[in-house]
Amino acid sequence: MSCIFCKIIAGEIPSKTIHENEDFLAFHDINPQAPVHALVIPKAHVVDFREMSGEMMAKMTPFIQETAKKLGIYEEGFRIVNNIGTNGGQEVFHIHFHLIGGAKLKWGNFL
Ligand code: AMP
Repeated sequence: MSCIFCKIIAGEIPSKTIHENEDFLAFHDINPQAPVHALVIPKAHVVDFREMSGEMMAKMTPFIQETAKKLGIYEEGFRIVNNIGTNGGQEVFHIHFHLIGGAKLKWGNFL
């Protein structure tokens, strides 16, 4: 098993868990880009959004909402980012949704 996020799910690499159920795991990003920066991943190895089923997305929605509440960013708002493939800037090829918040976020600087 070579996927770094599969290793986190298996407990082979340490991470700081925020929220977990049988299908998903939320943990703190190791290189936070804002005061709050978490990652939400499915426990099943899905490479990216292009392989994500609608059924899994539907299950992930309440999990992300619960995670944002646990992080204390739900009320004031936050950003969900999902990078897809080379042009999307994806670096880890196990789908993950970034939850970013804890401050008023700016927009832009994509190039
Ligand atoms: P992306 O560029 O969308 O693929 O984002 C990958 C994210 O995974 C980056 O924000 C990294 O900081 C984060 N990351 C990589 N390795 C770890 C790790 N071991 N624990 C937590 N976050 C990680």
